[in-house]
Amino acid sequence: MSRRARFRFVVAVAIVLVAVAIPSWLHSRDLTARLACGSNMKGIATALKVYSGDWSLDDPDPIAMLIAKGEIPASAGHCPASGKPYRINRAYFTAPHAQNSSTTVVVFEELANHDGIGANMCYSDGHASFEKAGDVQRILVAQRISE
Ligand SMILES: [Zn+2]
Repeated sequence: MSRRARFRFVVAVAIVLVAVAIPSWLHSRDLTARLACGSNMKGIATALKVYSGDWSLDDPDPIAMLIAKGEIPASAGHCPASGKPYRINRAYFTAPHAQNSSTTVVVFEELANHDGIGANMCYSDGHASFEKAGDVQRILVAQRISE
């Protein structure tokens, strides 16, 4: 193999490695953001439940109130992937029968936060789950939550 052919081979291998590594790197970054996002939501849902007597359903932004009180850090009030604030299911706080349900949404986010792939949702039993895009709409509609 000539020196020039060897150089071309090395460049071709490098291009293939970069082409394989970049999507993997982007994918792992998004997974990290999804996990951090779900963790943020768990904290917010817990704090909203604990402090539900301290805010009114008319309050335009209970999450901002929790941040102002120092109950949650400001960095936890939004999705780390997009920087957009989380949304709450206000109906949850007027439906005591929905306490500790694995299907009742307490906190959710916009579908666009994770490139439309899906969205994290935190349920009233305290678990957070990354739901696929098609499931997000189904869940929001079933619970009559407007995005
Ligand atoms: Zn998110």
